[in-house]
Amino acid sequence: MTKQLISIPVLSILILMVMVHSASAQEGWWMKEPIRWVQTNLRQTDANLDAAHLVGQLAEMRANVVLMGMGGIAAYYPTAVEFHYPSPNLPAGKDMFGDVLREAHARKIRVVGRFDFSKTPRAVFDAHPEWFFRQTGGQPVIYNGLYSTCINGGYYRGQAMKILSEALDKYAVDGLFFNMFGNQSRDYSGRQVGLCHCDSCQRKYRQLYNKDIPETPDDDYRKFMFTSSREVAAAIGDLIRQKRPQAGYFNYIQEYTDGIMSESNTAVARPLPLWPYAASDHVNRARNSEPGKMAIDLNMQFVDFWWRFATVPRQEIALRSWQNLAHGGALTFEVNGTLDLQDRQALETAKPIFRWAAANEQYYAGQNSAARVLLLGAPAAGGRTFGEEAYRGLFRLLSEEHLPFAVADNMDWVSGAKKREFDLVIAADWAPAGLKQYVENGGKVLLASAHEPEFEVAKVVRTQSDVKGYIRVRDHAAFPSLKETDLLMLNGPFTEVSADGHSPDSPAALTLIPPSLIGPPELVHVDMKDTNTSAIVTRQLGKGTVTWIPWNLGSLYYLQSLPAHAGLFRDVADRLNPRRQVRTNAHPLVEITIMRQGGRTLLHLINLSGQSQTGYFPPVPMKDIHVEVAGDFKAAATVREPGNLTVKTVGEYTGFTVPQLLDYELVVLK
Ligand SMILES: [Zn+2]
Repeated sequence: MTKQLISIPVLSILILMVMVHSASAQEGWWMKEPIRWVQTNLRQTDANLDAAHLVGQLAEMRANVVLMGMGGIAAYYPTAVEFHYPSPNLPAGKDMFGDVLREAHARKIRVVGRFDFSKTPRAVFDAHPEWFFRQTGGQPVIYNGLYSTCINGGYYRGQAMKILSEALDKYAVDGLFFNMFGNQSRDYSGRQVGLCHCDSCQRKYRQLYNKDIPETPDDDYRKFMFTSSREVAAAIGDLIRQKRPQAGYFNYIQEYTDGIMSESNTAVARPLPLWPYAASDHVNRARNSEPGKMAIDLNMQFVDFWWRFATVPRQEIALRSWQNLAHGGALTFEVNGTLDLQDRQALETAKPIFRWAAANEQYYAGQNSAARVLLLGAPAAGGRTFGEEAYRGLFRLLSEEHLPFAVADNMDWVSGAKKREFDLVIAADWAPAGLKQYVENGGKVLLASAHEPEFEVAKVVRTQSDVKGYIRVRDHAAFPSLKETDLLMLNGPFTEVSADGHSPDSPAALTLIPPSLIGPPELVHVDMKDTNTSAIVTRQLGKGTVTWIPWNLGSLYYLQSLPAHAGLFRDVADRLNPRRQVRTNAHPLVEITIMRQGGRTLLHLINLSGQSQTGYFPPVPMKDIHVEVAGDFKAAATVREPGNLTVKTVGEYTGFTVPQLLDYELVVLK
């Protein structure tokens, strides 16, 4: 009986996951056209805006999609649906959304309507208190007079569908977008509100898990919220496809949608180091995890919620823009209110980039990653903690090493319709069981984590959670990049594996040195002891090879940027994958991506040299970047600084020199 009770929720989640995976996106305009997307998060006071003026501004910067407020918390059109209220600033008889839609379509600008069903005015709460989020003590969550709804309540499940039906019947929108989807446990001011304890949630949670909702989210609760939000996401997707089959469905989630939204943003309380690859990370991960969907990573102009009108550095806006384009995503720009801004620096930075992308739009539709290395990121379904630092460290190492790579957060690439070939797969922190068969079939895999993989690479003796020691380099021939160091810093977890003869690194090429005395200087490391504990394992599995570095190389590099760790990564990666896709003398701060577009190959180069700590400055111009790309190409041309490059065949590579890199360059190879 007990067993049955447990198996029901597990089964229902599995069924949902299968459904989620089989739900395929439409091949709509968002996949076929170059996208230059401006999002205006309108305030209710903008409901009387001049449609012709706004659309004129969009056309002038050559945006071709505008995402703007439509309904939810405030409607920007006259609405007849109960519990849906036009903005108090919408003049009687005026249909602002309709006016913008007409003006925009006349100028070939697509319109995506934005809805936020996460909050309502008090009148809805008074009429239907059972639709709303309840804290542990039963009190509602109120923010600036607005009441938080619950994803499992009747507002999301019923009323929102009525509101959307009216909107979709009335307006030929090109898509819909949903903000704050699902129950947020924190408000805009950062106040924790906990988990929803409304009757619907309590009943449903008890049915599924046979227990009460916890005080803090655990794995079961995370799965519960995941399935709850996906049920609503599926219903909304069905409604959009039924009413407006040409319209796209955009959301921050991957399931049921046509476009995967994310934000490259800043927040003053966010821990450093700053992540200058945010847009690359989001777009790369979205496009390669769900290749049939568009990645729309919003380039957020503001510093943090308290300063929505203060813009981030101009070059941060520029860098994110180039990263969007270089990874095959939409070019984006986001503002609060209208485009009549009090701080115009970000907008004035975005404008020329939008215009340039419009003038060269033939290159910015239908791009797909041609990278031959895969970085496995966090599993999409949630419910498992994942080391973001480890992931980011490896992300940076790959970029700085100019190893073009795709990021996937699932295993769809292994087989089936989404199968894709890679020369090397790198697991950051999480090594799923599915990798075993991949290796056995001939794959090359690098694991860099103290977490034991979900398949046996070596017998695990134990994991020590915090080792402040060293790694001894025993075999310098195996690590040509480490010829000037015998020791690598180790700080963090270390997993000891038994030397069972699987490793060809014999004696172990790298070994553990446990912590020793650190002071006073007279005593520093006088007791240092070497061990035979291996700090790297390489094993043949079937036809393939797996190398496991059983400590957190990625996190260490993310936080400390030590060249010794980079050298180790380089040597191990090159041993597993001796034939790099790109060979170049480019500076490590040149980000290089390689994309396929129809019959041609596009090599993007982004100059990150203006980025330092939280500062973004104009990048330092670079000259004569020599690049060799695996493959036989007859012609290479640069687009940003237009020119034809001399190509030369070098073995299995095609070589050329980019004479100058200012902020960004695109090389078209045929
Ligand atoms: Zn609830």
